[in-house]
Amino acid sequence: MTDLVAKHIQTLRPYQPGKPIDELERELGITGSIKLASNENPLGASPKAVEAMSALVAESNIYPDGAAYRLRERIAQKFGANMPEVVIGNGSNELLTLLVRAFCLPEHNAVVSEFAFVAYRVVLTAAGIPFKSVPVKDGFHQDLQGMVDACDENTRIVFLANPNNPTGTYANYDELKSFIKSVPAHVIVVLDEAYIEYAQAHDYATALEFRALRDRLVVCRTFSKCYGLAGVRVGYAIGPAEMMDFVNRIREPFNCNLLGQAGALAALDDLDFVHASVECNETGRNALEAGLMAMSDMGVRWVPSQTNFLLVEMPCDAGPVYDAMLRQGVIVRPMAPYGLPKHLRITIGTPTEVERCVGALRAALVEVTR
Ligand SMILES: *Cc1c(COP(=O)(O)O)cnc(C)c1O
Repeated sequence: MTDLVAKHIQTLRPYQPGKPIDELERELGITGSIKLASNENPLGASPKAVEAMSALVAESNIYPDGAAYRLRERIAQKFGANMPEVVIGNGSNELLTLLVRAFCLPEHNAVVSEFAFVAYRVVLTAAGIPFKSVPVKDGFHQDLQGMVDACDENTRIVFLANPNNPTGTYANYDELKSFIKSVPAHVIVVLDEAYIEYAQAHDYATALEFRALRDRLVVCRTFSKCYGLAGVRVGYAIGPAEMMDFVNRIREPFNCNLLGQAGALAALDDLDFVHASVECNETGRNALEAGLMAMSDMGVRWVPSQTNFLLVEMPCDAGPVYDAMLRQGVIVRPMAPYGLPKHLRITIGTPTEVERCVGALRAALVEVTR
C-alpha cells in the first residue's frame, strides 16, 4: 500500500481531540464527568445564537447561503473591513487548511513556533509543505524575532497564534507590530486570534490594527471559544481582498452550514454573553491558580495565561496524572502530543468545575507520586 499515498501522508498522525465525555463514561461505566480538555465555553452557547439556530432547525432542508452574505456583512461592519476581505470557514481550522492549499507549493516552506497550535503542523504536513519550528524562549514565549529570522526566500507562510494555544502566552503590542513589519514582504503572515476575547492584558493588540503595515496579513478568528459555538463550526478570516478571493474559489460551496451562519450572526452581537464568559473565565482562572498555588509544594507550576486555559507542569510524567483524573471523571488534556510530556492543559471551567478539577488533580498527584 506504500505507493497509495505520498510519504508525508503515510507518516501523518491525526489530530488528537480532547476525550469526549460519552467515550469516557462508556469506558469506565461512570456518570457526571466533566470535560476541561478542549477550551470550550463552560457557560454553554450564546443564548441569542441558540434562539436564532432553533428558529431555523426546521428549515434544514434548505441549502445555506453559500456566500454567507449576512454574516460576512456584519463581520466586515463590526471590524472595519470590506466584505470582499472576509471569508467564512467551517471553523477557523478549515481556513488554515484553505490558506495553505491556496498559497503554498511543495517548493515553499512555512515557519511556526515551537509549542504552537498543533493544527498548523497537521495542515502543513498534510499538504506536503516543510516547516521550520522556532524554539520558544523564556517562559514559553514565542520567539517572534527568531521567527522573522527563520524566514528565507522560499518561505510562503508564517503562523502565529496570539494568544497562543497551548501555552496561553501572548505577544504584546510592540512585539506584534514589529513582527508584522519585519517579516519579509513576500511571506503571508497568518495571525490566529482564536482567544482574543479572553485576552485582557492592557498591552494586548489585535493584528487588525496593523493591517495598513503589511499587505500579506490574514487574521483568523473563531466562534468556537468565547461565543460558545464549537459544535456548529464557524470561523472567519480577514485579509486582502485579492487573497481572500483565491481562498473563496477553493472552498466548498456550502462550507458554512445554515445553523452555524445564523448562530454566529446572533452571537456576534450577544455582548452580554461575551462579557459573562470573560468574567466567568477571570473568576475561574483566579480560582484555578489559587488551587494550583496550594499545590506548589508538590512541584506544580503553571504558565501565566491570557486565554481560557492554563498550561500546567506536573512534578512527574503527566500521563499517569491524566489517567488518574479520568478515573475521577475529570477530563483534561495531556500535552505529550505537543512535546510536553510533563504538562497538562486545563480549560478554565465554572467555579464548581474548577473546584472539582483542583480536587481531582490533588488526589491524582497523591496517588501517582505515592
Ligand atoms: C480552538 C482554536 C482554534 C479554533 O478552531 P475552530 O476550527 O474554529 O474550532 C483556532 N486556533 C487556535 C489556536 C485554537 O486554539
